[in-house]
Amino acid sequence: MPTNADSSLYPLTGLALTAKESERHFATLFNLSPNVVLLTRQTDGLVCKANRHFEVTFGWPLADCMGRTTLEIGLWGTPQQRQVVLDKASLGSEPASLEAQLYGRDGQAHEGTLHTQRIELSDGTYLLSTFIDNTEHKRAQRALQASEEKFARAFHSSPDAIIIIERATGRYIEVNDGFSRLSGYSANEVVGQTVFDFVIIADMLQYERLIQEVQDQGRIRNRELLGRDKNGDLVTVDVSVDPLTLDDTACLLITARDISQLKSAQAQIQHLAYHDSLTNLPNRALLMDRLSQQIALLTRHELRGALLFLDLDHFKHINDSLGHPVGDSVLKIVTARLEASVRLEDTVARLGGDEFVVLVSGLEGTRDEVIEHVHGLADTLRALLSEPMFLDGHRLQVTPSIGMAVIPDHGATPADLLKRADIALYRAKDSGRNTTQMFHGDMQKAASNRLRMENDLRQALSRNEFSLSYQPQVDTRGDRIIGAEALLRWKHPSLGDVPPHQFILIMEESGMVLDIGNWILEEACRAGSELLRKGLIDSHTFSLCVNISPRQFRQADFVERVERCLRQHGVPYHMLKLEITEGIVIKNLEETIARMLALKQMGISFAMDDFGTGYSSLTYLKRLPVSTLKIDQSFVRDATNDPNDAEIVRAIVAIAASLNLEIIAEGVEKPEQLAFLTQLDCHFYQGFLFSEPLTLDGFEALLRERVSR
Ligand code: C2E
Ligand code: MG
Ligand code: MG
Repeated sequence: MPTNADSSLYPLTGLALTAKESERHFATLFNLSPNVVLLTRQTDGLVCKANRHFEVTFGWPLADCMGRTTLEIGLWGTPQQRQVVLDKASLGSEPASLEAQLYGRDGQAHEGTLHTQRIELSDGTYLLSTFIDNTEHKRAQRALQASEEKFARAFHSSPDAIIIIERATGRYIEVNDGFSRLSGYSANEVVGQTVFDFVIIADMLQYERLIQEVQDQGRIRNRELLGRDKNGDLVTVDVSVDPLTLDDTACLLITARDISQLKSAQAQIQHLAYHDSLTNLPNRALLMDRLSQQIALLTRHELRGALLFLDLDHFKHINDSLGHPVGDSVLKIVTARLEASVRLEDTVARLGGDEFVVLVSGLEGTRDEVIEHVHGLADTLRALLSEPMFLDGHRLQVTPSIGMAVIPDHGATPADLLKRADIALYRAKDSGRNTTQMFHGDMQKAASNRLRMENDLRQALSRNEFSLSYQPQVDTRGDRIIGAEALLRWKHPSLGDVPPHQFILIMEESGMVLDIGNWILEEACRAGSELLRKGLIDSHTFSLCVNISPRQFRQADFVERVERCLRQHGVPYHMLKLEITEGIVIKNLEETIARMLALKQMGISFAMDDFGTGYSSLTYLKRLPVSTLKIDQSFVRDATNDPNDAEIVRAIVAIAASLNLEIIAEGVEKPEQLAFLTQLDCHFYQGFLFSEPLTLDGFEALLRERVSR
């Protein structure tokens, strides 16, 4: 192996030098090359010489690889790779050039271009190779490509429409699949054209304003725009615009999202908030809104309007007995009839349940003329609604009660007007249903009286204002007292004695009847036990009668309550008789019967009060375990001078006989009434003729007097 005087040069294995100069020259070039230069022996790949760059690139100090072959130092991935290079290089005198992958000491692959040339030296054939390492460049290229792919994928798979346009011309540069889905145009159709060729923004003025805004503010976020798709249909889109520079060209990146569905859902929610879902009529909120508009409008034009507040009579009964689907159908038919009978500019609204309101506007004429007109209108509606309906094989007749108020005479605000129409409605119902009532100032007084009474009633119990009166019941045969009815009395602090018909209904409707009812039961039992204790009555021949309202009876723990009360006061169960009315059967007939049976099992009996004034349905009567019918006082009162009433009393007595029920007449004031009843074999009665309702002391005195007789 030749040695070299210049220590900075590596010796060339077996190289026969012809000139020292030439060698130095070559050696300098060799080491200065920015690329890898390597000299190997062709036969086995023995490393003969390599430059600095070889060391740096592949991590091999020359001393470590000299004397070893390129295969031994793992420069090639496989011997085949070297063979490929050998083959190429042996073909001609031109250098072979190819893309190759070489491996460094640490096993890292280096990609690059390999130039290899054969050179013949005196001691054999050698290969001189240079290698341009492109690893870094390739890696950067791959990263760029990956990022471009990632972007392209994001661009195309975005659910939103993404559009890139040239700012100056409005030319489409690129659009994604989302754009095609939204607009119906394919990328091929639009790219190269301008936004003016394909009008996808419904109003081009809007587009220009948008561009101006981007100019002023830099970008735009979430702007709602109306677009037009390929079919010409309008779509509501949410648009954002960002400036973007592509290849030195100012562009705009536009993203658009179809929010048509969102908008229509929003509109639907809006609709639901202002309409009733069953009938699709305006609801209370919308009615109030329109009413306030109307008040202003009518006042300005010196016109009048009217509010007609309708409520269907006994609608609850339809719902309870025929089921809610039938009830719903009735409401829909009523809706259709109402809508058909008013003008387009009038509003029919449903406030809920069976309550409807008709708002009539633009009525001309004097106040009296308008009132007359509204009366006529209400009568027409009433007649129309009363037409029979055929539903599910049922023939139904639904009558309305209607309360009316004139706008603006009866109120300056929507709330006032509605309240007054409601007051009139209440009055209409009160006066026998299927009627119409115009609001009147006096009604307001009655309504506020009712409100005051309700408030006063709430305090009556705690203020000890209630008491019970006892009205004896007698058997004409032997003039014997067979029982007494406990009747509630209220002594109002300023009004004095308030008649029950003025407060019982309020008590019932407000729910106070539950608390007050408990008190009545307790008080009656206390009185009963006292009379028993004093030996003034015999539990086997005396009935303690207590009125029970339907609501009170429906109390979940009613049976337990009654039982506990009797037990605590030591009143035998068989002494208590509960007076119920036919209203009790309106709801849950089966439950009512079960509850009555439970009480009957304990020995408690029932009287059907006010018989003849309600449904008087024999079907119900046969199923309810009542022992007594009470003929209502209205028939008793008139039986002696009204043949019709006499006939009714006769019929009631006959029913009682056929169902094997006891019968008692109430409200007997005159001897001739009693004579009429006795002649029908009705011997039990209650009335002023024998005695008015008495205080407990008064009743006790009466009993005492009779005992002493
Ligand atoms: P009702 O249960 O039918 O009671 C009979 C009513 O007729 C009583 O009226 C009684 O004073 C009255 N009366 C009795 N004899 C005669 C008579 O000869 N002529 C006339 N014209 N009337 C007579 P009252 O006490 O005013 O009670 C009216 C209604 O109030 C009762 O009718 C009942 O429905 C209800 N009520 C009274 N007390 C209670 C109670 O404690 N609880 C419940 N839930 N309702 C009650
Ligand atoms: Mg009664
Ligand atoms: Mg009665």
